[in-house]
Amino acid sequence: MTAHIALLPGDGIGPEIMAQARKVLEALALPLTFDTAPVGGAAYAAAGHPLPGATLALAREADAVLFGAVGDWQYDTLPRHLRPEQAILGLRQQLGLFANLRPAICYPELTAASSLKPELVAGLDILIIRELTGDIYFGQPRGRRSAPDGAFAGADEAFDTMRYTRPEIERIAHLAFQAARKRGKRLTSVDKANVLETFQFWKDVVTEVGQQYPDVALSHMYVDNAAMQLVKAPKAFDVIVTGNMFGDILSDEAAMLTGSIGMLPSASLDANGKGLYEPSHGSAPDIANQDVANPLATILSAAMMLRYTLGQEEAAARIEGAVQRVLASGLRTADIWREGTRRVGTREMGDAVTQELQR
Ligand code: NAD
Repeated sequence: MTAHIALLPGDGIGPEIMAQARKVLEALALPLTFDTAPVGGAAYAAAGHPLPGATLALAREADAVLFGAVGDWQYDTLPRHLRPEQAILGLRQQLGLFANLRPAICYPELTAASSLKPELVAGLDILIIRELTGDIYFGQPRGRRSAPDGAFAGADEAFDTMRYTRPEIERIAHLAFQAARKRGKRLTSVDKANVLETFQFWKDVVTEVGQQYPDVALSHMYVDNAAMQLVKAPKAFDVIVTGNMFGDILSDEAAMLTGSIGMLPSASLDANGKGLYEPSHGSAPDIANQDVANPLATILSAAMMLRYTLGQEEAAARIEGAVQRVLASGLRTADIWREGTRRVGTREMGDAVTQELQR
């Protein structure tokens, strides 16, 4: 059956890296069709809104969405609801995406790019699963006191409420146990149960759900300790599951273990496995249109799309294998270049992965 993919390139380096991912997907010769729509600043410029109705409709109808990145300094003065980044929040909400999956993999060839000692990160392969719909980012009430709405000047207090419901925790826990089952069968749930009621509840519900997965070893860790362990002994983890805010922070920390943000894919999934796939980095306006951006995070996001939404595990592994061989052959974009390797541009890196696939 033909799968329909929505391509949303976005701003900055988005169109350049998306072109490479599309080329790689086309080289697989699978029954895939593609439609492209503007999103973020590009959509604001074209249609007056970062997530126009037509783009949202395309994303809804498609079997999966491949997203580039959004944001550009020229839109920083727009009112918040029109800023490019609102497109991501809108898509998450409208598509019911509740789980963010971010693998942090350190390819043997890139250990020198990590800020940690090579022996700590060589062969690192962990998966961070972040809940996306609850927690302090969406809890009510929120606001400030002693100041009118929209103003912080003169306020003497501001507050946000941390909140999780049982169904929210249960569905992310099930997804995390199932992901762990397909990997090393170890799941670490990260919380702050020693201080926060919300996270004692989180811990209890994750433990309950865990009874249905006796083959997965569940452990619990406080978030401050998890932040330390990620830089002390990151390879000790397999899958980490945590709430929205802790996941936001820990997934960026884990990203840095691998050396370059240009290497890291991500997936955001709904309850039926449909997903939005995107690189973990932003639109990098500082290097846009210079043919220097690393397209591998987007290419690896396309591989995740094949694995998690389209059920094409073999094709996903083929892409990942091709990326690994291209790195082993010494090709590097500027962000991961080191003495003794060959520096290539965005397009040449995409071509190299495509050729490797076609061998
Ligand atoms: P960024 O991730 O865009 O860039 C941070 C640094 O990493 C820059 O020096 C950039 O050149 C470099 N970089 C990023 N991706 C790269 C790649 N593929 N290859 C090589 N180098 C790469 O973060 P930022 O500079 O803080 O934000 C820039 C814009 O992106 C902002 O408007 C921000 O809001 C937006 N943003 C969007 C997303 C998203 O679309 N999901 C995520 C984060 C930031």
